[in-house]
Amino acid sequence: MRKIDPSKTSVCIIANPDLRVTPELLLWLLDSGVPRNNILVHRGNDRDQVAAYNSAVEMSLKLTSVTHHLFADADIRPYEASDCIWEAPHDFTCLKCDTEVGLASWNHKDSFHTGLWVARSAALRQMKAPWFGWTYNAAHSQIHGCVCESFRESAASLGLTTGNVGHAHHYPRGSKLPDSICVKTWYAGKAR
Ligand SMILES: [Zn+2]
Repeated sequence: MRKIDPSKTSVCIIANPDLRVTPELLLWLLDSGVPRNNILVHRGNDRDQVAAYNSAVEMSLKLTSVTHHLFADADIRPYEASDCIWEAPHDFTCLKCDTEVGLASWNHKDSFHTGLWVARSAALRQMKAPWFGWTYNAAHSQIHGCVCESFRESAASLGLTTGNVGHAHHYPRGSKLPDSICVKTWYAGKAR
């Protein structure tokens, strides 16, 4: 059933300078069959989320022996409802998770955010840098959306698809948001 071979997937975990990673993330990656040597914990720039994400993509594109690149925030917590990402139906497929904007982040079928996402390598290579960036009002006093919006728009302009599946737990900046709402959606109709 799997479309992605985890052994041919590079993993870049974007961590703060303290390099802390949730145990759930590391265990889920290993349980999924990702070889340990494919997993990189990247010390992201904690003063600049855009630079952190862009440097992760830049580094991963240097790896030419894989078919897919997976990126994950170090504070994300995948579980059984995350396994479906290995069937990634899109060029860029992410897991639903809580963002700082709340559930409105997932209003669209092609909604895409970077908590944990996987890219088809050939598709990612068509995207031009910078991959992520804020969009501002004229005075740069307010931001629109999030850093993923420009990525989703560039992908669409190239005819590449973004979308989301499943769910992973995520508490942005340590907040406790109602992630169970997404879980309920995922498990609707499934016996547990
Ligand atoms: Zn986003």
